[in-house]
Amino acid sequence: MIETPSFFSALLDTIDSHIAVINRQGEICFVNARWSCFAEENELAMPDGWRGINYLEVCKQAAEMGDDFGANAAEGIQRVIDGVEETFYIEYPCHSPDTKRWYMMRVSPLQHEDVIYYVVSHQDITERKLAEERVLDLSRTDGLTGIPNRRYFDSFFEEEWRRCQRLQLPVALALIDVDHFKEYNDLNGHLCGDYCLRQIAEVMSRFSRRPGDLHARFGGEEFVLLFGNTTLEQAELRVETFREAVQNLNIPHDKSPTAAVVTVSAGVSGCVPSRELPPWSLIQFSDQLLYRAKSEGRNRIVSRPFQAKATSYRQSIGHA
Ligand code: GH3
Ligand code: MG
Ligand code: MG
Repeated sequence: MIETPSFFSALLDTIDSHIAVINRQGEICFVNARWSCFAEENELAMPDGWRGINYLEVCKQAAEMGDDFGANAAEGIQRVIDGVEETFYIEYPCHSPDTKRWYMMRVSPLQHEDVIYYVVSHQDITERKLAEERVLDLSRTDGLTGIPNRRYFDSFFEEEWRRCQRLQLPVALALIDVDHFKEYNDLNGHLCGDYCLRQIAEVMSRFSRRPGDLHARFGGEEFVLLFGNTTLEQAELRVETFREAVQNLNIPHDKSPTAAVVTVSAGVSGCVPSRELPPWSLIQFSDQLLYRAKSEGRNRIVSRPFQAKATSYRQSIGHA
């Protein structure tokens, strides 16, 4: 007869998911082979086996050691046991020192004769998560230069603006534009122009190193450098170094009235965000300073503090 307990146990051992069956108290009554194997591979082996171990306690102990998954898992399992929810489902990272891994835990009731048990299964969902990460990366990246795109910049900037407003920290922002780039394209062709933009983007990536910093392609031949928790004076120095680094790329530009090589201009401004100010107001101000850098001769940066009041804001860009 094929339908014996040992047959079903052997069948469960062929499944990739790690499966444990627990009772109402959370005590483990059964585990399949993958459950024990995974535990051993991750230094969680139970010398006397898993039967009788209280899984709810294991999760709670993990939670006490600061593991978010442990706290969420214990709560979710308890909700299913209490009948508050029919099933519980959670996705969680479980990275090993050298590999990224994610798992999904599911808990569902299992009635056998007149006793209710709960099946806890962990399934490897790493492949799906990596694919999702790749899609997310693509949606955030500018196709030409490989640096963050405008869409990602917009959401990052809004968050950084809010964070700095909450903590009353300074934010600085530089809008950067390649000088006489139309002529560069006209003379060298669009593909050379593309390569030039890629080189500039590559230099730029060296200038956003901290978690609150971001470099991005703003559109066309315009770029943006954001510096969270940074004063205008500090940002000005960084942007000036960036401007020099672009000049030092020594990309010949035979039609530029400004220099013999490709150069950039930038408008840099900074402030401590206030509740009344929208993040785009800082971009708008930097844009006006960029315009001024262009009209003052290009290959330079113009830097001013951004003042919230409309009148002083006008004065500070020379339009009073
Ligand atoms: P200015 O110094 O005042 O900034 O002059 P400019 O010539 O750089 O400015 P303008 O706005 O007249 O021209 C910008 C040029 O940038 C025109 C456009 O073809 C080029 N451009 C924008 N995006 C790309 C791109 O992705 N690749 C290439 N090759 N060129 C681009
Ligand atoms: Mg432009
Ligand atoms: Mg330009």
